[in-house]
Amino acid sequence: MAGSVDETRGTLSAQLLKGQKALVTGANSGIGLATAVALGRAGADVVVNYVVGADEAEKVVAQIKEFGVRSYAHQADVSDEDQVVAMVARMVEEFGTIDIMVANAGLQRDAPVTEMTHAQWKKVIDVNLTGQFLCAREAAKEFVRRGVVKEVSRSAGKIICMSSVHQIVPWSGHVNYASSKGGVGMLMQTLAQELAPKGIRVNAVAPGAIRTPINKDAWSTPEAEADLLRLIPYRRVGDPDDIANAVVAVASDLLDYVVGATLYVDGGMTLFPGFATGG
Ligand code: NAD
Repeated sequence: MAGSVDETRGTLSAQLLKGQKALVTGANSGIGLATAVALGRAGADVVVNYVVGADEAEKVVAQIKEFGVRSYAHQADVSDEDQVVAMVARMVEEFGTIDIMVANAGLQRDAPVTEMTHAQWKKVIDVNLTGQFLCAREAAKEFVRRGVVKEVSRSAGKIICMSSVHQIVPWSGHVNYASSKGGVGMLMQTLAQELAPKGIRVNAVAPGAIRTPINKDAWSTPEAEADLLRLIPYRRVGDPDDIANAVVAVASDLLDYVVGATLYVDGGMTLFPGFATGG
């Protein structure tokens, strides 16, 4: 059934994105991996960006190709301007254009503020914020050049910024990360305002706690998981597919009137769970 959720796998299975060309950064692990696969399942051709881990990236490419769409892996550091420019240029050469940019790559370098080095601060801002700016800019240039192709999509292109609940929730011991995601929120809104008149939709997906390598310490022992669940009213840690499905929906014309929005996919983590009993 068109647009239905596959009951057995809990994933969007319809060809919502047939004929579209997508690029996902940091797509050989966690949320990016699940998103790249979900976009392929939805009918898009997909570029799998990675910075390290060529073997993992090739495995993702093989998985995507099973859906009968095109895919290749491309190594680039999203915080390096020349590499991002070359990555999008190659995509336009190989796939003809780009319709969906998922700026997902991100990392943490945690420390109390009194111990945080300038290098830790800079690395996180460079990858999580500047990286998203560079990827969005290069995609926007191609969207503006090409414009709307109505047989493909109602919009001239979609940029989806991978944010976090820490776009709005302060996070002690992670000032670099929280600042980068707060910045992603304003990057997204400003780009959405600037690019909407050109038919481009810019939105953010903001995950809560999702089971991936980035936060393994928070869920890999029963004690840690119990602690984490106190912060999640829905009482389950999210899976990468929870986020991948949201990205497919936001990228599709089903959500064509959604512009400049942040979709929190967090089991209610942003509902101030401490106030359920306190306050
Ligand atoms: P992950 O560590 O599994 O994946 C991160 C990916 O980004 C990896 O493939 C990594 O190699 C890549 N990456 C890192 N630096 C890069 C660079 N310079 N250039 C290109 N790629 C680079 O973690 P994840 O949980 O899948 O994280 C994906 C995104 O989701 C991040 O932006 C993260 O902040 C966000 N997020 C995750 C959670 C969560 O609970 N897992 C919650 C909120 C937000």
